[in-house]
Amino acid sequence: MPTEPLPAFDPERFRREGRAVVDWIADYWQTVADRPVQSSVDPGWVRSQLPGHPPEQPEPLAAVLADLDRIIVPGLTHWQHPGFFAYFPASASGPSILGELLSAGMGVQGMLWATSPACTELETHVLDWLRELLGLPDRFASAGVGGGVIHDSASSGLLCAVVAARERALECTAEQTAAGSPEQRQPLVAYTSAAAHSSIEKGLGIAGIDRQRLRKIETNDRGEMDADRLAARMDADARNGMIPFFVAATVGTTSSGAFDAVPLIAAATQRHNAWLHVDAAWAGAAAICPELRGGIVAGAEAADSWGFNPHKWLLVNFDCHTLWVADRRPFVRALSMKPDYLRNAATESGSVIDYSDWQVPLGRRFRALKLWMTLRMIGAAALRQRIRDHVAWAAEFADWVRADRRFELLAEPSLSLVAFGLRAGDEAAEALLDRINRGGRVLLSPARVGGRHALRLAVGGTLTRREDVETAWREISRLA
Ligand code: PLP
Repeated sequence: MPTEPLPAFDPERFRREGRAVVDWIADYWQTVADRPVQSSVDPGWVRSQLPGHPPEQPEPLAAVLADLDRIIVPGLTHWQHPGFFAYFPASASGPSILGELLSAGMGVQGMLWATSPACTELETHVLDWLRELLGLPDRFASAGVGGGVIHDSASSGLLCAVVAARERALECTAEQTAAGSPEQRQPLVAYTSAAAHSSIEKGLGIAGIDRQRLRKIETNDRGEMDADRLAARMDADARNGMIPFFVAATVGTTSSGAFDAVPLIAAATQRHNAWLHVDAAWAGAAAICPELRGGIVAGAEAADSWGFNPHKWLLVNFDCHTLWVADRRPFVRALSMKPDYLRNAATESGSVIDYSDWQVPLGRRFRALKLWMTLRMIGAAALRQRIRDHVAWAAEFADWVRADRRFELLAEPSLSLVAFGLRAGDEAAEALLDRINRGGRVLLSPARVGGRHALRLAVGGTLTRREDVETAWREISRLA
């Protein structure tokens, strides 16, 4: 007897199972603090628990949820655990999770304005809201030739900025030189600091700008790019017939949270008509607090692109990178592809944004929903308060480090990030980090700061309270 195929979508069944899954998520958040922060499974353990062949017959949700508890949860490092202080936390929230669910529930693909006008227009609008909250200059508003876009990650945003910058640089050079490929005669060179995130080197490499053409400018003892050396290097490269085309400044470096002096970097960049990108992946969120904003958005009025990750510190679940550009036209020139099968009247009218022209993939998710829901259901005032709390708790933690003679701060605390070491030396610090992380109550991550082995504590988790920062310090101090 042939079996009846199950309907792929049964509304009543979906209601029932959806409630069970939402309950599972609520239980997970309610109990996550009782679990060890870091997974301790051996490599291959998760796969060893899974059947070798795909299921031929349907299984009930209850069986899948049971395996979630038995196989998947033990293999998780709990990023939403209140003792998670590693890397930069990826803070999620109820409203953003619901936004993600709604996005999946609608199942739209917003590659063109025409394929779902709301997907595009909500994104443009929410990024205008966020620009206002951050105090970013008007040139990034969608009312002019600029505007904002949501990408999956800072790495993707950077890659797109690089190709737009190349487009602009080669166009300018082509106007000044005879026909032919100017790039072959005049190599493009890019600049960032030695403390910049690896995604900058990676993105440039993907775009074909290899390591020989990336200048990693030295940093001062606070980890900030040396703007004088940058200017000298750009001048020397230009004298040697190269085209300085791209500079990536960092506001909030990954290791120690250092802020590059963007206004000084902008002056050097503008002299060469190079593209200035600001990577504020983590620190950018703090610009919603006017008293923290100064150093974060300083120089943004001279930037061509400026991006940060709401998925790090603004309660939007991973993934959500927001990127603003001062002029969308080089983006569109570099990234737009319009084969016959994408042609439509709205695009041809020139009056709409097609966000596939601002990114690498053609297709795109409705990520604006989760950002919109987070901003609406939490509100800017509460988002600001959280950031202020985190900064205050990190300052307290830094005071405890200062007061204990076994420890030393390896950099002044930056916003909610503290990088510290042990006076006993790097080997002892590395061993301490291992003991702390194996303890299961607190998770920190390593970095090199000023040539030393640092332990990094980044406050930012959704469930993290002041008591958890205090517990972390007690645990660190006990194990030292
Ligand atoms: N830039 C900085 C300063 C970062 O700290 C990070 C990640 O932590 C990135 C870029 C890369 O972020 P993403 O994972 O969004 O590509």
